[in-house]
Amino acid sequence: MGPNYKRIAIRVKGKKKLVPLHRVLYLSWGFTIPKGWVVHHKDGNRFNNSRNNLIAVSPMEHARIHSKSFRKVDGEWFKRCASCRKWVPITGYRFTPRKDRKGVLRNISKCRICYRKYIRRYMTTYRLTHRALVNAIALKSYYKNRARRRNAG
Ligand SMILES: [Zn+2]
Ligand SMILES: [Zn+2]
Repeated sequence: MGPNYKRIAIRVKGKKKLVPLHRVLYLSWGFTIPKGWVVHHKDGNRFNNSRNNLIAVSPMEHARIHSKSFRKVDGEWFKRCASCRKWVPITGYRFTPRKDRKGVLRNISKCRICYRKYIRRYMTTYRLTHRALVNAIALKSYYKNRARRRNAG
């Protein structure tokens, strides 16, 4: 399966290289792309490479833009709580945004209220201290991510 955007062939040290056309165009207009940043198509159409449709964004911003669980209202990011399904400002989340190696957000799912309920239920059920529980949760997500990485091959 090929990429779902246009590419252009350029020569680097005599070797042919295929690079995303929208990145080449963006740079040709005099804009810069900070290291690791992504050039995003605002209207969602990856073949619309017109000047006002392209913008350079950080990998975190980009992941949020394309995620159904994120929404930006008046410049502020909201995330949908996985438990109560309410839209809560990012700052209201128990887990601070954590980036993986690719800069993609991970491990934010519950709002502060739902997280507290969750913690309390587990603490009483398993008679755990708060510290032990936090460690257990960290371990759980570690194994989950490791399994995902393995499945991805
Ligand atoms: Zn995009
Ligand atoms: Zn919630």
